[in-house]
Amino acid sequence: MIHIDGAFGEGGGQVLRTALGLSVATGQPFTIDGIRRHRQKPGLQRQHLTAVLAAQQVGDADVAGAETGSTSLTFRPRGLRPGAFHFAIGTAGSTTLVLQAVLPALWSAGAASTVELAGGTHNPLAPSFDFLARCFAPVVARLGAGLELALHRHGFHPAGGGVLTATVSPATWRPLAIERDVRPPRLSARIVLCGVPRHVAAREAAVLQQRLELPAAAITIDTVESNGPGNVVLVMIEGAEATEVIVSLGERAVTAERVAERAADEVRRFVRRGVPVGEHLADQLLIPMALAGGGTFVTTEPSQHTRTNAMVVQRFLPVQIAMAADGDAFRVTVQPR
Ligand code: ATP
Repeated sequence: MIHIDGAFGEGGGQVLRTALGLSVATGQPFTIDGIRRHRQKPGLQRQHLTAVLAAQQVGDADVAGAETGSTSLTFRPRGLRPGAFHFAIGTAGSTTLVLQAVLPALWSAGAASTVELAGGTHNPLAPSFDFLARCFAPVVARLGAGLELALHRHGFHPAGGGVLTATVSPATWRPLAIERDVRPPRLSARIVLCGVPRHVAAREAAVLQQRLELPAAAITIDTVESNGPGNVVLVMIEGAEATEVIVSLGERAVTAERVAERAADEVRRFVRRGVPVGEHLADQLLIPMALAGGGTFVTTEPSQHTRTNAMVVQRFLPVQIAMAADGDAFRVTVQPR
């Protein structure tokens, strides 16, 4: 039985999701305590509980402690069951994070699965649907894992109600090296509006054009339907090795200009660093790369999420994850142990 200290490092929901995914993928039971100890409201919230129940279904697991607010859990998978799944969070909690708790398992299964998820699709502090579809999925495809995504309805905080589906195929893993590329990336943007006046998007587009020298033709404005209002500015930074997706969410009492400026500033910082793998892809990529048994990528200084995830991954898989300075960037290397 693997014991995980949920308060280790970042001490957030990711420790739990990584443990769930890799437990079902490898058939190893685990216990965790101190779940989300470093968060304002520790313990399982709706999104995390949905992730536990999702992993339970996929892994036919015996589970103790799966209740809202619970700070410890025992999870024993009994077998991997690919199939057609529907997981509803019931709040605007992040669907993409719930999906990440079952992806490692479904990639390790003997047949393809479809997963429909309901909740938030563009949440703060979580991967946006666009990040998953344009950044994460193409990179895991190069590692040999299938992930096709479709967004049926956007879900914004606090109304939720978004729906996405994922088709996950069993992986034929191969190692991957993601190196620096000196060619300048290609930028494009997508602005999403629901129940927000159109001039908001026009003002955001004007800021992106001015700050990023983006031509108007590179900016798409989509008016969508959702259960509640939402505004998202997404900028895609397409390099030869990977596409980074920067997101800035519209907020009450924050001007449209400021929302777009936040995105533009982050884009400029990323482009200036000249690395192919951004902070968020780095922590999420460790799991498929470790399942593949090896690989390397160049990234920014590893975040606490990345360092924490590396520790959890190494508890379940026979790999060694090294992070070292490489000029003005960092190199992460995953090797068999
Ligand atoms: P909490 O513990 O508060 O519940 P959580 O469950 O939301 O947190 P965290 O442990 O904070 O989970 O992990 C959040 C995950 O979302 C990390 O993998 C992080 O890289 C990812 N993430 C956050 N912001 C972005 C973003 N803008 N784009 C892509 N991924 C993101």
